[in-house]
Amino acid sequence: MALMGQMMTMPLLISSLIQHAARHSGDTEIVSKRVEGDLHRYTWADAELRSRKLAQALARLGLQPGDRVATLAWNGYRHLEIYYGSSGSQLVCHTINPRLFPEQIAWIANDAQDAALCFDLSFLPLIEKLAPQMRSVRHFVLMTDRAHMPAQSSIPGLLCYDELVEAEDGHYTWPVFDENCASSICYTSGTTGNPKGAVYSHRSSVLHAYASAMPDAMDCSRRDVILPVVPMFHVNAWGLPYSCAAVGAKLVFPGPHLDGKSLYELFEAEQVSFSAGVPTVWLGLLNYVRGQGLKFSSFKRTVIGGSACPPAMLKTLMDDYGVEVIHAWGMTELSPLGTLSKLSAKQLQLPVEEQRRLLEKQGKAIYGIDMAIVDDQGQALPWDGRSAGNLVVRGPWVIAGYFGAERSPLIAVRGEDGRDAGLWFPTGDVATIDADGFMQITDRSKDVIKSGGEWISSIDLENIAMAHPSVHEAAVIAVPHPRWDERPLLVVVCKPGCQLGREEMLAFYEGRIAKWQIPDDVVFVPEIPHTATGKMLKLKLREQFKDHRLPAG
Ligand code: AMP
Repeated sequence: MALMGQMMTMPLLISSLIQHAARHSGDTEIVSKRVEGDLHRYTWADAELRSRKLAQALARLGLQPGDRVATLAWNGYRHLEIYYGSSGSQLVCHTINPRLFPEQIAWIANDAQDAALCFDLSFLPLIEKLAPQMRSVRHFVLMTDRAHMPAQSSIPGLLCYDELVEAEDGHYTWPVFDENCASSICYTSGTTGNPKGAVYSHRSSVLHAYASAMPDAMDCSRRDVILPVVPMFHVNAWGLPYSCAAVGAKLVFPGPHLDGKSLYELFEAEQVSFSAGVPTVWLGLLNYVRGQGLKFSSFKRTVIGGSACPPAMLKTLMDDYGVEVIHAWGMTELSPLGTLSKLSAKQLQLPVEEQRRLLEKQGKAIYGIDMAIVDDQGQALPWDGRSAGNLVVRGPWVIAGYFGAERSPLIAVRGEDGRDAGLWFPTGDVATIDADGFMQITDRSKDVIKSGGEWISSIDLENIAMAHPSVHEAAVIAVPHPRWDERPLLVVVCKPGCQLGREEMLAFYEGRIAKWQIPDDVVFVPEIPHTATGKMLKLKLREQFKDHRLPAG
């Protein structure tokens, strides 16, 4: 008979993270640029006390375990309190992305059956319009103080967040319950069809917090000053509000001020050492520092993910600004971290160019994530750095199903030896994995360009265009072709004041990629549309250019 371990079975609960931070890093600061315009400072101890008071207030409103508390808010201390106050008291924190279309926001709130909605002052006009459509929401809470409450509002019984919190005494003990209870919900961006809800558990969130803080992941410590540029409505700011509590790092929240100038000033004023965000944010920040001839005095490293980090951006940050870039891949369904690109001791002996080629990849799976690439029949493909297949994953912070959906998204996989390898989550990404386990995304499966039976990676073509000094942003999409099925079309936004012609752009590809993969045409546009989480909206571009006539040849 198996001998059972004799360790305490303490459930992994989100409240334990902030309790730990309050007790062991109680005087470490949390600094927030507020929507109201000023800078707010307090500590982890203050945050924990106010989270407890919020838990009391939510209970006083009649919310029951399992009820959803939605947020529509930027990164800030009140949002952090809602993360902990709701999840910690067995309610479920549902972060909604305010950049979605208003109808989508109402649709998501109804789908999740949100019982309460907490929102920033900047979203008051939006919620005044949407409130009648949010059928399940019983309490609307404006995340501000009494002084900023509107004299009147069409929202029935609009509550003031600070008043709710301050009315409580904080004599509250975090409850202990099953670690598999839901802690939070985040909906996917929904570029096709309706968004789908990923429901995280306390267990999955705490395990993700441990793993994401490890040195070969985000490498967070109590010596860090961490500014998550990634919004708290985009997969829990990649888990940073949890991992920062676990390690006791100082947190800096930028609020709605995500332009290059505001970010730079906050980085410098608070001596930020580490940050994380999607490539488009760094484009804005780099444009600003370059334009002003500035340098960073404390910024040491950043995680870039959410879309492929262009190698040119990696090079600029590392070589011109001395900022280590950690390229990461993940998704809403993975809480979100899957892989990060960090080198081993062996790889650090390689010539710099070879090191760079590895760092440009999406990297190695962190402990807890198992990954494989498979063909369309679910047969695993070799890790040879050449075979491209559908990327599948599994692990304790990977979803097994979507909220309210009956059909499981998981697929059966057979190992390289042909044996049954169980059920895995299909990511929808196409990737290669090399012998050292470095994964490289070649495309979203929907974005790959299928030319005459061969696949062309849109990401490869975009990365080359981005290396041209006059290019600000580039997207490559497939357009129909009578002979080859599809051919690549390059869509370019030039840097301000730069001139670039079609011929010069296409000539830039010569020698950098096989001739047959060079885009057939280039269009110059003032702007590329982005999704609510900052990814290029290729669906819209494909629609916009579906009748584009490629030059003959
Ligand atoms: P989301 O769930 O909105 O975060 O989107 C997840 C998707 O973003 C992934 O399935 C990828 O297609 C894409 N993605 C995330 N990180 C990267 C990356 N580093 N490189 C390329 N694509 C990425």
